[in-house]
Amino acid sequence: MKTILVTGGAGFIGSHLCKKLLEKDNYVICVDNLFTGSKNNILGLLKNKNFEFLEHDIIKSFPVDKHIDEIYNLACPASPVHYQYNAIRTIKANTVGVINMLGIAKKHKARFLQASTSEVYGDPIEHPQKETYRGSVSCIGPRACYDEGKRVAETLCFDYHRQHKVDIKIIRIFNTYGENMAKDDGRVVSNFIVQALEGKDLTIYGDGSQTRSFCYVLDLVDGIIKMMEKDNFIGPVNLGNPDEFTVKELAEKVIKLTKTKSKIIYKPLPQDDPKQRKPDITLAKTELGWEPKIKLEEGLNKTIEYFRNH
Ligand code: NAD
Ligand code: UDP
Repeated sequence: MKTILVTGGAGFIGSHLCKKLLEKDNYVICVDNLFTGSKNNILGLLKNKNFEFLEHDIIKSFPVDKHIDEIYNLACPASPVHYQYNAIRTIKANTVGVINMLGIAKKHKARFLQASTSEVYGDPIEHPQKETYRGSVSCIGPRACYDEGKRVAETLCFDYHRQHKVDIKIIRIFNTYGENMAKDDGRVVSNFIVQALEGKDLTIYGDGSQTRSFCYVLDLVDGIIKMMEKDNFIGPVNLGNPDEFTVKELAEKVIKLTKTKSKIIYKPLPQDDPKQRKPDITLAKTELGWEPKIKLEEGLNKTIEYFRNH
């Protein structure tokens, strides 16, 4: 039985990851400060004797008494609304927080997986994005606390690897959606579904021609675990669904699937909002034998069902 630390484990992706790791007979320690995560996401796990919850901020160091075999570092707000709410704290989570977690990995000789993001490519000029693309990121804009934070986090991982031989892994996650997203998360899929179910207008920012490629959360979690289990491959590797849609197409799909009478309204496009995004997942396919299986409509139906019941 491995002992695995999951930071951000009470969040959207982290809660699914903890559940899956428990199903695979691991001992899971979930560390989360509950900034955007919620105990509701892990209520079912709290009664499992192989699950431990520690309410803690990774910006502050903490002692770990058990020997740790693996660390999945997901602690960081992911929605633009939340990561911009306290930008300096977001940078701290991605610098001080990551250093603290890499320190634990070094001490325990644990394998360390960093949840990076497609945002390291910024507003990309290369399309679709390959791991070799160095990105087009503003270092002074409102998204920089997250984008540049995650870029530094990747640098820190590589430096701990080169300098201290820490066994690192980097995944770059593209827009993911599904059950356990918070109702007030602020990202596009949950916003549109909640608006549609409440009979409110769906808010498209800009003209809706910007694109994103949406991955269903359980597909993603399979990819994350495959990456952790793969030897001799550090990454970075893109994990996402390459099926690309405009934001307007997404709004229309949500309207159709929820059968809502809601209309679409247009709001200003936030500064530095990327115009296009689509992962090239050739590397994930060849190195991990991974690709997503769930199509957007199927995943949206599951997510709509979840929000109907919550
Ligand atoms: P989320 O906001 O639901 O989860 C983040 C979790 O981290 C929350 O539970 C939050 O309370 C916790 N957290 C935040 N700061 C913390 C801190 N300093 N100390 C301890 N806990 C802290 O978001 P998510 O979508 O589940 O994202 C998880 C990870 O995946 C993040 O690192 C995010 O950057 C990355 N990611 C997600 C997406 C996506 O589309 N969902 C895309 C790219 C990258
Ligand atoms: N968006 C939108 N309406 C919303 C929320 C988001 O049109 O209510 C747009 C946003 O401007 C962006 C895309 O949807 O172009 C994806 O936004 P999200 O915040 O989900 O993630 P991002 O990929 O921008 O980090």
